[in-house]
Amino acid sequence: MINYYESSRNAHEKMCSSEAILKGLSSDGGLYVLRDFDKHTFDIELLPSLSYMEIALSVMSLFFPDFDSQQIEASILEAYSLNFSDPAITPLKKVGNNFVLELFHGPTQAFKDIALSILPSLMNHALEIQQFQKDIMILTATSGDTGKAALEGFKNKERMNIIVFFPNEGVSKVQELQMITQEGKNVHVCAINGNFDDAQSIVKELFLDEDLKTIGDKFSYQLSSANSVNIGRLIPQVIYYFDAYKQLLNTNEITMHEKVNFIVPTGNFGNILAGYIAKKLGLPINKLVSASNANNVLHDFISTGVYDTRRPFIKTSSPSMDILISSNLERLLYYASGQNNNYVKECMDSLKNKQVFQVSEEIHQEIQKDFLSGYALDDEVSDTIATVYKEEKYLLDPHTAVAWKVMSDLKLSDHKNIVIATASPYKFPGTTGKALGIDIQSEDDFVMMDAIHSLTQIPIPEALVELKHKKILHDTKIDTECMKSYVISKVGQGND
Ligand SMILES: *Cc1c(COP(=O)(O)O)cnc(C)c1O
Repeated sequence: MINYYESSRNAHEKMCSSEAILKGLSSDGGLYVLRDFDKHTFDIELLPSLSYMEIALSVMSLFFPDFDSQQIEASILEAYSLNFSDPAITPLKKVGNNFVLELFHGPTQAFKDIALSILPSLMNHALEIQQFQKDIMILTATSGDTGKAALEGFKNKERMNIIVFFPNEGVSKVQELQMITQEGKNVHVCAINGNFDDAQSIVKELFLDEDLKTIGDKFSYQLSSANSVNIGRLIPQVIYYFDAYKQLLNTNEITMHEKVNFIVPTGNFGNILAGYIAKKLGLPINKLVSASNANNVLHDFISTGVYDTRRPFIKTSSPSMDILISSNLERLLYYASGQNNNYVKECMDSLKNKQVFQVSEEIHQEIQKDFLSGYALDDEVSDTIATVYKEEKYLLDPHTAVAWKVMSDLKLSDHKNIVIATASPYKFPGTTGKALGIDIQSEDDFVMMDAIHSLTQIPIPEALVELKHKKILHDTKIDTECMKSYVISKVGQGND
């Protein structure tokens, strides 16, 4: 039985899935990984008759073996029966000769909803399984979309509290408004003077901080993570890769066992890593294509084997991918190195101390068996949005447009291509509207949304329409050095 997760940096640091979900990050700074999970295979011949929920149950039972199936089923029902506006949850659309897997029909119009709709409920069951007495304080760093999705997922949940840190002026206006108007008695939202990498690095340090541990014990709080470092966040993302393949089968676009490509707009490497897990479980994937914006550190890594963050952090029109330190790459290093924890630790130490690491030729080749990469700059993103709309009447958001452009550049014509659509174009109305040639004087995103709607007739998601009238409830802005004291103040103030 493969029941235990271990730290990517230390094979002796072991725990079961419910404990790993509650902790989020290993105490040595590593990420929890399941050794030898690929000894299991998912029988894809069963796919055509399975619902999204049934696929979810199979995948999650495999990765969360200490949960009983009623607990997993209850979580799945709570997450997916009402929260998604499309009955398929993640519908696949044919656009020209390619396919787009739309992951943005949840409560906050980005793909983060898929996992963050279910994580709170998984955590709740994990509390039961572990007979855990403490309450949970979720610490989240966001590049724009995780924050809102986590707030929606965790708001008003018993025994759970959440703090979201977002980069001041580092997210779109709609993303910011979604967060600072968040209601709920257990939510805290705070802007920081720094970028996403700063926020994520400090949050990771806070998990290991001794003072916070002491204060957490005193007030009976356990810190946990809603970022994709948490396996409870990562594993639900595996489901839609299988479901996309099912949709291709059921529309006779492919035959059973035919290989397909997935093109993934990538930032923290969580989404694409979920695709890698699906492939290792037997999903016929030819290549996973990592698509970056101007922060193209992952493209350089996949093409050269050198991961080098010594470069400027660039603000782009796809802010949710403005990331230089991609956490989940650590999990890929673990698997591509043959589950070599010491090797992973060496790479991560080098990254921390020298801001760079290089993998061996052997590991680099191993990674290139599964991955391709590319990147797109802002003006290319804008052109891509315009062209795809003109030719196909399909409106891409800037992140999805990055992936589309990379797909076009790589000329992937031997297999069916599935572009993962990670956000609604209405989350980034400034960029999409300008790309469509809409010329209005107003800087107001809501005016632009209406203009896009008039032009395209694509409905504006209800939650974004309502946003215009919401009260601003959170206006704290702090320097990164103050994040620790901010957390201490919230942990110390209890539940009210
Ligand atoms: C988070 C996000 C991404 C990047 O996903 P990762 O899992 O961090 O690689 C891409 N697009 C959008 C819209 C996102 O919110």
